[in-house]
Amino acid sequence: MNLVLMGLPGAGKGTQADLIIKDFNIPHISTGDIFRAAIKNQTEMGKKAKSYIDAGNLVPDEVVNGIVAERLAQDDTTKGFMLDGFPRNLVQAKALNKMLEDDGRQLDAVINIHVAPDVLVDRLSARFMCKNCGASYNRLYHKPKVEGTCDVCGGHEFFQRDDDKPATVKNRLDVNIKLNTPLVDFYKNQGILHNINGEQSIEDVYKDVREVLVNL
Ligand SMILES: [Zn+2]
Repeated sequence: MNLVLMGLPGAGKGTQADLIIKDFNIPHISTGDIFRAAIKNQTEMGKKAKSYIDAGNLVPDEVVNGIVAERLAQDDTTKGFMLDGFPRNLVQAKALNKMLEDDGRQLDAVINIHVAPDVLVDRLSARFMCKNCGASYNRLYHKPKVEGTCDVCGGHEFFQRDDDKPATVKNRLDVNIKLNTPLVDFYKNQGILHNINGEQSIEDVYKDVREVLVNL
């Protein structure tokens, strides 16, 4: 089972990723992890990536693709894999198809956890902090026990970090939507895109994901 997992920030992709790999026993190939591993193990592509990072430059697609290719060449992927954080653009998506094809493999499904942007802004801007002691709260998941009073220090004044403010969150999200949309269209045209309604409980989202995966 060869999968790509997609979802905008705040869509709950990480939670679903954990459930999928436990259930289906396939390696979770997350871009951040394989980058760190490639650099640490000083693979050919890892060394190249490091030279760009050290110079403060963006790692070009060909090197990103190379790191993924190195990872997909490892034995544990023969029974399947789940890519997370890759591909990020069409160049990478086409390169992925090519590298799998050259190896007699193909993608079986792209799971896209879909949550409406305004719901994501609401989720991602839910964090606030106590002005006095810095304790962190979440308007949706972790409110102070007594409204308006910090659990830790009893303070009554709260604030939001700039990163957590709705306007900042919305900008960050817009950048991701611009990157994601062509990819979603690309996989839709290939007939392997599965949109999952991410505006449900974790269990119900996973039920829908599982339904797709068991029927592949
Ligand atoms: Zn406090």
